[in-house]
Amino acid sequence: MKRVAPLASTNASVKKVCFFKDSKKDSSFKPDAVPENHFHLGRSNYAIVSDFADVARIHLRQYKLDATGSLFPTKSGITLIPSVWLALVREFAAIDQAFQDGKVFVVKVCLVLSRTVVENVTYITLQRYYQRKDFSRKFLAPVSMLNETEWNELKNIHKQITSKIVSLMFGRVFRKLLKKEVTKHIPFPKTDFDCIDAEIVLTTSMVELLSYHIQENISALFECYGCLEGYENQLGHECMTYTNEQRIFDYGDLAMLNMDWDKLAAEFVERNIQMINYISEIFLNKLDMNILIENAKKMYIATDCILLV
Ligand SMILES: [Zn+2]
Repeated sequence: MKRVAPLASTNASVKKVCFFKDSKKDSSFKPDAVPENHFHLGRSNYAIVSDFADVARIHLRQYKLDATGSLFPTKSGITLIPSVWLALVREFAAIDQAFQDGKVFVVKVCLVLSRTVVENVTYITLQRYYQRKDFSRKFLAPVSMLNETEWNELKNIHKQITSKIVSLMFGRVFRKLLKKEVTKHIPFPKTDFDCIDAEIVLTTSMVELLSYHIQENISALFECYGCLEGYENQLGHECMTYTNEQRIFDYGDLAMLNMDWDKLAAEFVERNIQMINYISEIFLNKLDMNILIENAKKMYIATDCILLV
């Protein structure tokens, strides 16, 4: 377990954070019209999912009301990449346990969580840091401070946030990765190839590929309590009794998040190299990844061996 001694000091000399720097206007909103990618945690704290510069990110940020009644993002808050978010949500139980033991908790050698009481209110502080070559830590100044209610809300809605990251990632970012991959093979792709048969072959191939990787990633993420504890009775093993449907429910979006998207794009193009002309602008624009992901999940559920017994 990655637990460390409570923080002695924090190094505050850090680069300025450019959160929403280029889109300051767009990032404000009225409290009664919360944008789609924003999740209210409590008070003026929000979790936001963004894909600025084609990188999916999760922000935990404090907002401030201005004179016109609009909420503006402040510098108080942190930004996480999907792999750190994935690690965080998988450690929720262990984090709460560490807090109960009066310890801080470290996620992925880059995020420290601690619990402090300020004027009788309990806060959970999340702070990013870098590890230097000599293993000393350089802490980034901005922190996210959630009270207990907000922390619990984050835990309650983590699945919704994860599913939003996945749909954002596959809605826009993945399409661009595919395009980039295609242009490696044909530098000037023609845009006029459009053929319904090719489209069916390509989307089927994508569903199969996704289903395969869902299966692979769920196996990697799945933790069986029975295996961890070394139970002899097979009924104590979720790895034996859990259906694929339950696995998808618990781990489906996490498995999607755990995927190597660049690799997936490369694999798809490689598999369909003889049809690369059909992976055209038209095809990519038509591609509805959210539907393909749903179909891939159904395909994974259908391969459940427990149902065949
Ligand atoms: Zn097991």
